[in-house]
Amino acid sequence: MKIDAIKNGLVIDHIRAGRALDLYRLLGLDNYDCTIALIKNVPSQKMGRKDIIKIDADIDLNLDILGFIDPEVTVNIIRDETIVEKKSINLPERLTDVIKCKNPRCITTVEQELSHIFTLTDREKRVYRCLYCETQADQ
Ligand code: ZN
Repeated sequence: MKIDAIKNGLVIDHIRAGRALDLYRLLGLDNYDCTIALIKNVPSQKMGRKDIIKIDADIDLNLDILGFIDPEVTVNIIRDETIVEKKSINLPERLTDVIKCKNPRCITTVEQELSHIFTLTDREKRVYRCLYCETQADQ
């Protein structure tokens, strides 16, 4: 399967197979008018299967969201059809307004204007806890 090369934009590569749609949704990519290709189950020597998202525009990606969903992804920046930069992604220390606390008694459920903030409490196990009530976030 051939997908048109993009001129200026971004390629999110090495997404765990099956996670591209989650990323698409959480990154808010449906809000953009540019051409976006979501490619599922691409054969990969390293991973077996992977997903790829190609974005034909120079948009600001929220790298914290990428790191939370899948820190193994790589982001390639494309200029004039050439990769000019490869960004690796790290687990963010803090997530602001990416996910919501599921504790019904949490202050963020009551106080609508409060930001939903989660902090990384266990890097190895990738555990995030609500800053206010310490409820663990679902992965
Ligand atoms: Zn909470």
